[in-house]
Amino acid sequence: MTGSDGTAMRTDLCGRLGAGEAGRSVAVCGWVDRRREHSEHLAFIDLRDHTGVLQCVVDGARDLRSEYVVRITGTVTLRPEGTANPALATGEIELQDCEVELLSRAEPPPFPLDERTDVDETLRLRHRYVDLRKPRMQRNLRARAAVNRAIRRAMDAQGFVEVETPMLIASTPEGARDFVVPSRKEPGSFYALPQSPQIFKQLTMVGGVDRYYQIARCLRDEDLRADRQFEFSQLDVEASFATRDDVLGFVTRAVAEATVEVAGHDPGTFERMTWHDAMERFGSDKPDTRFGMELAELTPIFADTQARVFQAPCVKGICLTGGAEDLPRSRVDELVATCQRWGAKGLAWMRVVATEEGGSALDAGVAKFLSPDEGAAVIEALEARPGDMVFLVADERPLVRHVLGLLRLELGRPPVNDGRFNYLWVVDFPLFEGLNAEGEPIPSHHPFTMPHTDDLPLLMSGQPLDGEALLGIRSQAYDLVLNGWELGSGSVRIHRRDIQQRIFEVLGIAPDEAQERFGFLLDAFRYGAPPHAGFAVGLDRLGALLVAEENIREVIAFPKTQSGADPLTDAPSPIADTHLQELGLRVLPPA
Ligand code: ASP
Repeated sequence: MTGSDGTAMRTDLCGRLGAGEAGRSVAVCGWVDRRREHSEHLAFIDLRDHTGVLQCVVDGARDLRSEYVVRITGTVTLRPEGTANPALATGEIELQDCEVELLSRAEPPPFPLDERTDVDETLRLRHRYVDLRKPRMQRNLRARAAVNRAIRRAMDAQGFVEVETPMLIASTPEGARDFVVPSRKEPGSFYALPQSPQIFKQLTMVGGVDRYYQIARCLRDEDLRADRQFEFSQLDVEASFATRDDVLGFVTRAVAEATVEVAGHDPGTFERMTWHDAMERFGSDKPDTRFGMELAELTPIFADTQARVFQAPCVKGICLTGGAEDLPRSRVDELVATCQRWGAKGLAWMRVVATEEGGSALDAGVAKFLSPDEGAAVIEALEARPGDMVFLVADERPLVRHVLGLLRLELGRPPVNDGRFNYLWVVDFPLFEGLNAEGEPIPSHHPFTMPHTDDLPLLMSGQPLDGEALLGIRSQAYDLVLNGWELGSGSVRIHRRDIQQRIFEVLGIAPDEAQERFGFLLDAFRYGAPPHAGFAVGLDRLGALLVAEENIREVIAFPKTQSGADPLTDAPSPIADTHLQELGLRVLPPA
């Protein structure tokens, strides 16, 4: 494309010019970021494109307003002595002898484009095309693209084939609610939008693809949160004749390369931890391992205690270094109330003080209910020192872990932008995460997850298993965690019909129901299924953390609001009666 003077539309990008280009005639294009009067005739125009801002000294710029789109030609010139702006990448230079060509006028933007003003999110999303011009959003979109680029490169290098799978499918079992699409050809029938390509990727394994990947769009009708959108992208992976460790290796490489590409930081070895250890030590299956403050096991200390509050199946505690000095009483009361909201009966707290003999003792809070031996053992188990504050919860084990896990984050979680990327593989998840009202187990992952090899004999023995036995069975499922966010999950899959049938039986899925819901997969397995395993990594979450954003909406070009609406296009919205008729649908009045 050329400018109206017949030359190139632009020769350079605003942010890429520097002292090295001094003396050159250039043409730059972009938006008027700011205009400041210099003298009666001269004005400074800060011209902005996606690479940055360039100061242009313009004669007679009176009618140039913010966000006007212009082309400016001029000469790159070193700024006069003492006027350089070190805060700006192009701060040593400016464009002089400028000619301005107006390409497009603009109404005043609906909100200021600087990073300092806090703008209501609905307003930002309604005018996302303006919001995206902000340097931060430009950086984020480019980081997201870099994630995809690095991942494609890494998967390709490892022999994976990118295969697309359909969007209009029958329901898949990821445990969320499906979005559905009515069929016009078959009124009363519906497609489901994929919660993930799970079944299709397994079918590619039966189809001999050997190593599949896809940067897949997935849709799940769930309540939205900072790390969750209805639609999201994941790196979806499946490999044949692969062990769990092979899959962990493939994904580690892809994610590490994305980290280097975006954050310029090699994350090194990804640590591994069993689900059991994660729950016991951090009270979470997605521990933020950037800090310690681990949950100490105190149950044996209170085995024969006289203190009623600690007569419970499980007692654990955490220690806040310096907490006795730093935490005012009002904050402690707040923490107690918060823990009660999380389900605890109470939160026991004590200060650690120095004794005259130079040792440590517990003081204040519930300290008076403890025997001296119990107090000393608590201090030792928590490695507490004078000036620290200790917090204890006594209750059923899952509740103790849950509450202390949250309290640990509340008290110790580092900010999102501390520059560290602590990747962690959590392995050996339980096969079932709990029991439903009918006493049937609920799969932790999905029903195609292979049980742990050591627990397979028990499961396959055919003997009836009670709730406790079922919940003790481990699986070959694993998660990837980054700084306390779950980035993804995967598992070794069941490729043996007898094991799959047994799982359905345990889940209370009758053979005809299994056939109806997953028949096509079960049928496929009759024709020679290779052992296979896979994984999926949430790329919006990964992208967000790599640019230190706390909300994935900041790395998605056109996200939905927290309530699931799109203020830009007004989706979701009603459709015309004729359209409904064509689909054989009638809308009922709200219940
Ligand atoms: N389909 C799973 C998910 O989307 C991932 C996997 O098991 O590969 O969470």
